Formats: sequence, C-alpha cells, structure tokens
Amino acid sequence: MLIFVGEEIMKFTDVIGRQEVKARLVHSVHEGRISHAQLFAGTEGGSGLVLAFAYACFIHCENPTQTDSCGICASCIKHNKLVHPDLHFSYPVVTNSTIKDRSPKSTDYILQWREAFLHNPYMDINQWYNAMGVENKQGFMSVEESADILRKLSLKSFESKYKIQIIWLPEKMRVDASNKLLKIIEEPPDNTVFILVTEHREQLLPTILSRTQLVKTPAPSIQEMADAIGKLFNKEPKIARRIANLANGKINAAFILPAIRNKI
Ligand SMILES: [Zn+2]
Repeated sequence: MLIFVGEEIMKFTDVIGRQEVKARLVHSVHEGRISHAQLFAGTEGGSGLVLAFAYACFIHCENPTQTDSCGICASCIKHNKLVHPDLHFSYPVVTNSTIKDRSPKSTDYILQWREAFLHNPYMDINQWYNAMGVENKQGFMSVEESADILRKLSLKSFESKYKIQIIWLPEKMRVDASNKLLKIIEEPPDNTVFILVTEHREQLLPTILSRTQLVKTPAPSIQEMADAIGKLFNKEPKIARRIANLANGKINAAFILPAIRNKI
C-alpha cells in the first residue's frame, strides 16, 4: 500500500498533525530562531517523524512561502527522494549476517530506510523492523552510530546553510551512544540542528532531556484525522470521522484499518 507519492509527504500542509505545532515551527524559521537541539515528543503512531522531516524541508527550502516549503526547488526535490546531503537520519538498526565484526549503523540500512519512509512516513517501529527484514530483534543505536553522527556533522554543509540531524527514537540509543552525543547536542557546530523524535520521552536520559528544547507533538485531533482520511482515501466526512474515531489518535492505524479498505 503506497500511501504517499510525489511532493505530498514533505509539506507541512500535508502532514497530519496539530496545526498549532506546525505554525510554531514555521514561525521559528521566519524569526530566525531555530533552536539547535529540539525534542519532538509524541506518542506511538504519531506524526513526529513526518513533522521533523517537513521542518527540515522548510528550513532548507530555497524559496519557501510564508507557511510552507515550495515543493519544487532543487532542495525540495532532493528531500523528496531523501538524498539531500545536509539532512541526516539516525534510527534503530539491528545486526545481520553481513555485519559481523562491528555494530550496525544507520548508513548500513539507508536504502531500506529511504524505501520504507517514502512508502509510509508514519511507519512505526515494527514496520521499520519488517522493512529491515528482521523479526524478534530489538533495534538500537550504538556508540559507533554516535561517532558517525559526529563525523558527518564535523564537515561543512554541502548545499544549505543548515546541517540537520534527525534522530528517530532516541530512546533506542544505548547509554554510551547518548553520552557520546551530549557535548555536540549542548554546543553544536554553527548552523547545526538536532531534531530528536521520541515516542517515549520518559525513557530518555535526563542529560538528553536537559539539553533539548521540548516540542510536544500530540496526536492529531479527531477532526484533523478525519479531514486527512477524507482527502487521502476519498471518504465522505461521516465515514472519515468514524475511521478517525476507531484509529484513536494513531495515524498509522487509520491507514491500515480494514475500514479503510471499503469495509465500513
Ligand atoms: Zn523548496
């Protein structure tokens, strides 16, 4: 099931989420007050990752409007394919048969990541495990991943003013991995932005919490969810609202509910 195609996934207007959160993020860019380390804190099945992505697109966009990325500049097009050289992702990964003598890193799975995210940017951790082809394993971020982040961010930006590092599910960072990032999160190089996207804020180390600015990304309202379902799946408002109620704030669930497949 391909949910999003083309430019739809990268614009704020297309992100299913609280309007007030989007407005605040847009405002921070226009005001030139982009916090260098932000913690997007939401719940499982929410829009935190997609919001972080749309935010990165907007920061990098060469010709943004008052409220959104342009969608057509060279930067937007690269974001749309997840190949912009100044946007970096880290996410939980697992060992596999070809990675034997070291810890796995996000870059080992970059192709699977691009495919999975572009297929469904609202994916949850289990869908990501499926995309990596693993079962019954717990993903993690190792100290080698943190070293990789430090290495990438030590370079000058390639095409944009800002280097942006998104860390999806920092609660999966091992303690030594978190500790290795503390200094750079506290005092990053110029024009570097960290966006940590958590679904379990309570599991993060206090040292991470104290170094990041909290941006709450609550689940969308029923109406926001219903509007999105109506638009994406061409459902009448009454049906869309019923599905939104069933999904109970979990965007991903709304997409895979049997109801969405004309059974309601
Ligand atoms: Zn653009």
